[in-house]
Amino acid sequence: MTNCNLCESKEYSIVYSGVIRDGVFGTESQNKYKVVKCNGCGLVRLLNNPLTMQYYQSDEYRNAYNETADVNDYIGMHDDEQPPRLEKSGVNMFRNKTVLDFGCGCVIINQQVMENWVF
Ligand SMILES: [Zn+2]
Repeated sequence: MTNCNLCESKEYSIVYSGVIRDGVFGTESQNKYKVVKCNGCGLVRLLNNPLTMQYYQSDEYRNAYNETADVNDYIGMHDDEQPPRLEKSGVNMFRNKTVLDFGCGCVIINQQVMENWVF
């Protein structure tokens, strides 16, 4: 059992149990995993994530999920997806706030928030 990464609570509720995405869109894991919601703060996370930070930072991971490890290729593939997301959020969602983009890949959405909206 692992404590919540945010508030360190040991209490959680299972919100999903089964295979998860593993690699490019449409690829599923061979093993089943549990996704849990912290009873203390509401953070939703993968329970007992078997992957290490070193793996997430590796070219192997980037190639598995994006079919490239080149940052410019990644930005080129996903840059156009960000403006509609920012439009949906509205300008006031981020104004005078600290934005945590957890699991943000190459930080494209944060980069566009900073470039397009003056705070
Ligand atoms: Zn928590």
